[in-house]
Amino acid sequence: MDEAAFTKWSLRAAQWGAAYRASLRDRPVRAQTDPGDIRAQLPPTPPQTGESMEAIFADFEKIILPGMTHWQHPRFFAYFPANAAPVSVIAEYLVTAMAAQCMLWQTSPAATELETSVLDWLRQAIGLPDGFSGVIQDSASSATLSAVLVMRERALNWNGNKKGLAAGPKLRVYASDQVHTSIDRAIWVSGIGEENLARIPVTGELRGMDCKALEAAIIADRAAGYLPAGVIACTGGTSVGACDNITDVVRIAHAHGLYVHVDAAWAGAAMICEEFRYLWAGVEEADSLVLNPHKWLGAQFDCSAHFIRNPQELVRTLAIHPEFLKTHGRDGIINYSEWTIPLGRRFRALKLWFLLRFHGLDGLKTMIRNHVAWSGKVAERLANTPDFEIVTKPMLSLFSFRHLAAADLNAHNLDLVKAINDDGRIYLTQTRVDGQVAIRFQAGQFGMTEDDADYAFKVITELAQEPIRPW
Ligand code: PLP
Repeated sequence: MDEAAFTKWSLRAAQWGAAYRASLRDRPVRAQTDPGDIRAQLPPTPPQTGESMEAIFADFEKIILPGMTHWQHPRFFAYFPANAAPVSVIAEYLVTAMAAQCMLWQTSPAATELETSVLDWLRQAIGLPDGFSGVIQDSASSATLSAVLVMRERALNWNGNKKGLAAGPKLRVYASDQVHTSIDRAIWVSGIGEENLARIPVTGELRGMDCKALEAAIIADRAAGYLPAGVIACTGGTSVGACDNITDVVRIAHAHGLYVHVDAAWAGAAMICEEFRYLWAGVEEADSLVLNPHKWLGAQFDCSAHFIRNPQELVRTLAIHPEFLKTHGRDGIINYSEWTIPLGRRFRALKLWFLLRFHGLDGLKTMIRNHVAWSGKVAERLANTPDFEIVTKPMLSLFSFRHLAAADLNAHNLDLVKAINDDGRIYLTQTRVDGQVAIRFQAGQFGMTEDDADYAFKVITELAQEPIRPW
């Protein structure tokens, strides 16, 4: 592609992106395609000769776009948001154009130094003390895996990487059943093994770990010859927003010499608002935590902020120094690839920098406060509507509900979610609360307005009145 064509198509892509964003409210939120629909339109073999950009772009619009679920749609109330604020998209255009590999300080000093600064801004914004250092991981899953590897190495006196796990005692890690499945996967991948992830029962409205049960489990495991390594606590569990009592978890874990990692992948963004910080009180004593600016805050995926109290432990766990990666004569620099599992690193700090500068903390706080208030209003209206019940009260901007007008409530509510998503005007997902199906509602989309929340209430109540076709 020559320079003129690159300019032409870059402009066309940017214009397409802006028009696409402007058109979102007119599109169904979830893709309305059946499995195999897209594949059936793709040739089974690659082209032997190059094709024109006109043809490629036309097929993108004709074949690919109908198979996309629109995560930036203002009426996306499913899962958790994956917000890409327009300003962060612009930063990503620049990052993509430069396409630098930012694994070492010297492979792009600006990327490293901006990452250090911008994560320190974020640290201050969420009220963490200045003892924490930050690194951007590709995902919360990677941050948690890194934390589990540190737990493992600390517990094994830094011998796990060298000797493997077969020779040593069985490690134990503790978490409630409200944590995200990325914790299970970290336990699998680290070689600790699912059977050694001890599930601690939860109590109270916030569904936090029963800390007495946590302590009893640690003591019993040690007596049985296991080696307790760490605890993974959550602030804002994926299902219904469960929050552990971090103060108590840390007190018990540290008294027994265990490492504590806090998964606040979604809820962590809300901690830029002082009034929500009670939900993770005590976090300043944790060993590490993760929050995803690529969820609620608005930094385009992928951008996961991993804060660590002692980064030397992370580096000791992950860093390898072959000659070809050495940075001779540059003492005191940070090579962030020593803090992460992949060697290669995209320049992720730029979008966070653009986002924080353009919106300021005040702008982002207003967005989060609005989402919490609007979600609370939808919950209140549903609670006051016949045949609806609130299953779990709003935790920040997430609550769950159920429609009661059927004998088999589980089947009926699954059918209702399907009917809502097939309708396409809004997008919701389901969960199970104490074994029973409940419908999740979270407000968090960057471009959402209060009207969108009202619209969601209208669609939910309207479709619940209609005869619902079973799956
Ligand atoms: N932790 C929580 C609480 C989550 O809700 C999620 C994803 O939704 C994750 C971790 C995993 O995040 P990521 O996709 O960044 O790995």
